[in-house]
Amino acid sequence: MRIRAVRAMAVQERVLWARSVEKTVSLRAFSHAGAHAPASVTAPPRTRGPRTGPASGPGSVLVEIVADDGLVGIGLGGGGWPGALVVQDYLTPLLLDEDPRDTERLWERMYRSTARYGQAGLALMAISGVDLALWDLKAKVMGQPVYQLLGGRARETVPVYATVRDPQWARAQGFVGIKVGGPFGPEDGRDGQRANEEAVAMIRELVGPDMDIMIDCSSTWGVAYTLEMARILAPYRIAFIEEPVGPEDVDGYATLRRRIGSTLIAGGEHAYTRYGARRLLERGAVDILQPDIRWTGGLSETLKICDLAAAHNVPIMPHRGGMAWALHLILARPDCPLAEGLTLTDEEAACSLFDGEPVPREGLLSVGDAPGFGLTMRAEPDGQRRLEELREPAPWIDIRQSHTKDAFSHE
Ligand SMILES: [Mg+2]
Repeated sequence: MRIRAVRAMAVQERVLWARSVEKTVSLRAFSHAGAHAPASVTAPPRTRGPRTGPASGPGSVLVEIVADDGLVGIGLGGGGWPGALVVQDYLTPLLLDEDPRDTERLWERMYRSTARYGQAGLALMAISGVDLALWDLKAKVMGQPVYQLLGGRARETVPVYATVRDPQWARAQGFVGIKVGGPFGPEDGRDGQRANEEAVAMIRELVGPDMDIMIDCSSTWGVAYTLEMARILAPYRIAFIEEPVGPEDVDGYATLRRRIGSTLIAGGEHAYTRYGARRLLERGAVDILQPDIRWTGGLSETLKICDLAAAHNVPIMPHRGGMAWALHLILARPDCPLAEGLTLTDEEAACSLFDGEPVPREGLLSVGDAPGFGLTMRAEPDGQRRLEELREPAPWIDIRQSHTKDAFSHE
């Protein structure tokens, strides 16, 4: 079996999720809602000042790998348009005419070939999309869902926490927790600290004593501010604080984990490969590791990260774990206790690029027995691809038959 073609396309995040913005809620929105927060809070436009954390990313990369027998594997990486160019110009020549089932060898080849300018960021986001497409194809060849290739099911379902949603709605749906983002930070002074506390107090009141509350700081808090906020928020029992400091500040993470006893420290969505995960784990930087399978190097690499974390007794909660790409891994691993829910209703799933998007039932997620990741590109009734319908700004990159390994030799 040989790879005949590789196609890559940039996809904007909003197309993937298509969630209506008015249903999302941030910590800031809560504090603005005041004491009379309605059951469903409408978030105002984000008003945050200059961020010290990572800006929003360039989007995703959809990768299709076509085998000589016509089977197609699909994968979703990161990096948007520049990521698609990495797939087209640098990775495709390494893949054409190779056996798509050789996931380990091909990963190593892609990583070594991009290491001089890669090792993290765009190159790894692109490799992730290819790797996931290769696993999808391999599982389809075997006629099995991906989790069967990972050791089978460790569990039938996994509990879900809802990210940025109306707390009362999330509670009624049976989710184990709610994660809110957009907290006030150091630049907002004492008023911001009070507003954070008021908002968390209100959410705690709305969800009751048993539901988990998580706070995603998107790298904006810093060590001193996080220490103070953890002390202020201790009475409200925050399950974990996510990304309190920048991804490069491993010492800052370690300090927080050592000094804070009232909540757990989570992070790792911007750590790349086993080497990035190792830095966090060996320094005792996180209580919960959150690799993103679509960025850190795909399924091949996330499996290694899971083993590393298991050896440190650190649980894994993959970033965006409720999407099919990580959900197969979560269901196959005893050390992945929770999934992050982003597509939460059938209506949202109907907006997805893919048919087969997993949707939580009574607060639990699972996957079926469809081969691969169980996703297919959704076609419109006239047979057109939904992507074309959406008129995404970045066009398809077709890797034409004339693109041979010889023509693109990087050796
Ligand atoms: Mg996050």
